[in-house]
Amino acid sequence: MGRNPYEIFLTQLEKGAKVLKLEDYVVEVLKEPERVIEVSIPVKMDDGTVKVFKGWRSNHNTALGPAKGGIRYHWEVTKEEVMALSAWMSMKNALMDLPYGGGKGGIRVNPKELSENELERLSRGFIDKIYKYIGPDQDVPAPDVYTNPKIMAWMMDEYEKLVGRKAPGVITGKPLIVGGSEGRGHSTALGGFFVLREALKVKGESYEGKTAAIQGFGNAGSFMAKFLYEAGVKVVAVSDSKGGIYKADGLPIPEVIKHKQEKGTVATFPGVETISNEDVLLLDVDILVPAALENVITDKNANDIKARYVVELANGPVTPEADEILYSKDVFVLPDILANAGGVTVSYFEWVQNRMGYYWDLEEVEEKLDKKMSKAFREVYEAMNEYKIGSREAAYVVALRRIVEAMKARGII
Ligand code: NAD
Repeated sequence: MGRNPYEIFLTQLEKGAKVLKLEDYVVEVLKEPERVIEVSIPVKMDDGTVKVFKGWRSNHNTALGPAKGGIRYHWEVTKEEVMALSAWMSMKNALMDLPYGGGKGGIRVNPKELSENELERLSRGFIDKIYKYIGPDQDVPAPDVYTNPKIMAWMMDEYEKLVGRKAPGVITGKPLIVGGSEGRGHSTALGGFFVLREALKVKGESYEGKTAAIQGFGNAGSFMAKFLYEAGVKVVAVSDSKGGIYKADGLPIPEVIKHKQEKGTVATFPGVETISNEDVLLLDVDILVPAALENVITDKNANDIKARYVVELANGPVTPEADEILYSKDVFVLPDILANAGGVTVSYFEWVQNRMGYYWDLEEVEEKLDKKMSKAFREVYEAMNEYKIGSREAAYVVALRRIVEAMKARGII
């Protein structure tokens, strides 16, 4: 995964802290997660043997409320990665003004190698190990890489059995029928779409006549392609792990989505040019959307980026070195903790609805999401102007101000 993710977080934290002139002892508190739980999960495999998997749940800072953040299943998950992801969640939740601290979990597993029953036993086994430390008022997980609504439903069910009562607010990203929210599926992309609209607005521009390229065509990337296409943007290139496609006068996105659903990739879409995943980033377009992996824009290629807007739907796609290069080139980067915060924001709406026991329709969810995203953008933009800093630093400044105020109010510092 390239650079140590926790080191990247510390670099970003220090930059934001410097702008706010935070005392060293405040930064010391924020450098360490409050709690990291490490568990081993023995799982009975279908062939009768037992395999042991390692899992972690990290709470970075909970001054603003219960920890919130996803659970990742991946063969390369490490404790440090989970810690870094939980810290980014603290920042994201604070920036979005959600009543949450930051949490994240992970299990070191290749879920593609497990049967459905094994996956269920693993997911329930993880909850058996951590259930005392999660809960609607304590720590609220959600899906992340290679986890999905079905897994969330198993986890909620296991939790409810162990505590002996219904508690849908223990986890978000659930299927609709067991307390999920309308709109959760496309919320990350829609949030990014709203934020970009606001960024264009302050520059006196709009979606009209713009061109875009998108790296990654999963949940985040494909819905973003759809929203941009519907807004009249020419999406000239998209890619997934098998490669990319390019069409100078714009791809027919609804057909590309259908092709991806049927064939599992965009790369074989007929009648268009092919393009590599690296070259997608370097196209002469107005809007670039990294929506796949971390560390794809680095000091090696940042100088060759031609887009004027970069919307980070992926977490951590731009390295700190590349960030400075893009800033000096006057590229408007919409940082991950802002651009992809639509997902956790609708997760928050899900938790609120679970606690009320009353459910909103899609229109209401999307309207509330727009409000939240637009307000967060405005606050970031104001901090950019107030301190004469880049957008990522500004997003950290807005987030840190809230976390520090909450720690002060509680008397922690
Ligand atoms: P996903 O698994 O649905 O899709 C990932 C996509 O990336 C797939 O199309 C895959 O083919 C593609 N991909 C994998 N390797 C690639 C490569 N080398 N080059 C180009 N494409 C490649 O995942 P997702 O939910 O869309 O998440 C994508 C990114 O967005 C991740 O960084 C994730 O952390 C971030 N994110 C997602 C959400 C959400 O709610 N879905 C929320 C916040 C952040």
